[in-house]
Amino acid sequence: MKSQKSRSIKKISDPKWVADTVITLRAECVKQHDMSANYPEHDKLIAIQDQSQAIGEFLEWARIELGYSLGEYHEHTQDCFDIDGGRICGMRTEEMYAVNMPVTNLLAKFFNIDQDKLEEEKRAMLKALRNG
Ligand SMILES: [Zn+2]
Repeated sequence: MKSQKSRSIKKISDPKWVADTVITLRAECVKQHDMSANYPEHDKLIAIQDQSQAIGEFLEWARIELGYSLGEYHEHTQDCFDIDGGRICGMRTEEMYAVNMPVTNLLAKFFNIDQDKLEEEKRAMLKALRNG
């Protein structure tokens, strides 16, 4: 049991919530093309990387070491009811349910980073680098 725990601790330091590749890619683009103004989402990402990493590690630590995960109270929506008004979601508003959102998405939300734009920028960067 103990060895499993130390293995999981090691695993915490593995995920980088701001991917190194993204930052390397961004730096390479600036070096080759000086396109510093063209990738605002990446610039945001780079600016918050240390904070994002710390929060990501904290959440992983709490999950792995303490077994804690984020929870939310269920709120019924239209989708929770069938056509006759019967409730079909099987959830209760006074109970807390685990949040299923991946940590990366939570961090992006918190730091106001648009992941679709980020992906677009990444593709543009790769294209720019390929075309020299
Ligand atoms: Zn419901």
